[in-house]
Amino acid sequence: WTARKRKPDWMKRGKLPGGDKYTDIKAKLRELKLSTVCEEAKCPNLGECWGGGDGHTATATIMLMGDTCTRGCRFCAVKTSKAPPPLDPNEPDNVAKAVAAWGLGYVVLTSVDRDDLPDGGAAHIAQTIRRLKERTEGRLLVEALVPDFQGDVDCVKTIVDSGLDVYAHNIETVERLQGVVRDRRAGWNQSMTVLRRAKELGAKITKSSIMLGCGETQEEVVATMQALRAHGVDVVTLGQYMRPTKKHMAVSEFVTPEAFKAYEQIAQEMGFLYVASGPMVRSSYRAGEFYLKNVLE
Ligand code: SF4
Ligand code: SF4
Repeated sequence: WTARKRKPDWMKRGKLPGGDKYTDIKAKLRELKLSTVCEEAKCPNLGECWGGGDGHTATATIMLMGDTCTRGCRFCAVKTSKAPPPLDPNEPDNVAKAVAAWGLGYVVLTSVDRDDLPDGGAAHIAQTIRRLKERTEGRLLVEALVPDFQGDVDCVKTIVDSGLDVYAHNIETVERLQGVVRDRRAGWNQSMTVLRRAKELGAKITKSSIMLGCGETQEEVVATMQALRAHGVDVVTLGQYMRPTKKHMAVSEFVTPEAFKAYEQIAQEMGFLYVASGPMVRSSYRAGEFYLKNVLE
């Protein structure tokens, strides 16, 4: 359970994958005009996610609604503006077409927060999910990592009713650090309530993620997992916070792989359907493989 301040060996990034298969996928993505969070964030898990076991569990994360967020969380490198450009009405169709042509087994849709829009973009996200399901005749599994919609239950219902497989919303950190880590418009009660409502409204699976290394204690991490379970959350992921630039919040500690393992054990004992916990884990880490193994079986 010891933690360290300097970047330890286990956090050193491996090289991004190379080889013909990866080059082919990259070329295809350019052709489809699809941009993935996996590539843009230079995610260290790209090889594992895109490789996806035997292929049909390949996972990728796509960012919707532009690259400019109306919020400014202290851990996040996405650019911010009070008035981002309008939504692209063709995005749901274009994303569906491109993802279907890629042949993924599992897609994670994520987005910036759009507090400038009356419904926070809920209808746009729901439309994308519907189009994806239509284009792939329901074969593609869709996870949407959505904003809190300022707690608006109608927006939560719009997403739940779209036919998605996993409703994800991140609590990000423990209760005490919410105001330090997240934008002031986000918060513990709002996010927990949204997760509970999503489940009550019929979401098949709900999921949330916690970043470690923001100054939380072990007891607080355990309490956060307990609160998530109490709000009906089925899947939890825990990963290490990495500071994107010097302007962002500092890393308080590098949590050891052993500590991540211990949290995983505790979470499993709490009854989560599935837990991913490790220094390099991101909320979408190999989500397709784990969904198929743990949820559908
Ligand atoms: Fe992409 Fe998420 Fe996997 Fe990273 S963890 S490669 S962002 S799907
Ligand atoms: Fe980044 Fe999401 Fe916060 Fe926007 S709401 S700043 S995209 S973490």
